[in-house]
Amino acid sequence: MAVPARRTSKTVKRKRRTHFKLSVPGMVACPNCGEMKLAHRICKSCGQYKGKEVVSK
Ligand SMILES: [Zn+2]
Repeated sequence: MAVPARRTSKTVKRKRRTHFKLSVPGMVACPNCGEMKLAHRICKSCGQYKGKEVVSK
């Protein structure tokens, strides 16, 4: 609900803004090369997925 700016205290405003944050994408270390990669995607640096499926290099 819209409320005049001066009616919202600094504390209330700051507490609300604690929820405004960036979310980190799900990253995991590649079991093959140890490079950080997105979960459930092939590894960009070695092109592997689930151990041995070599997709590209
Ligand atoms: Zn890798």
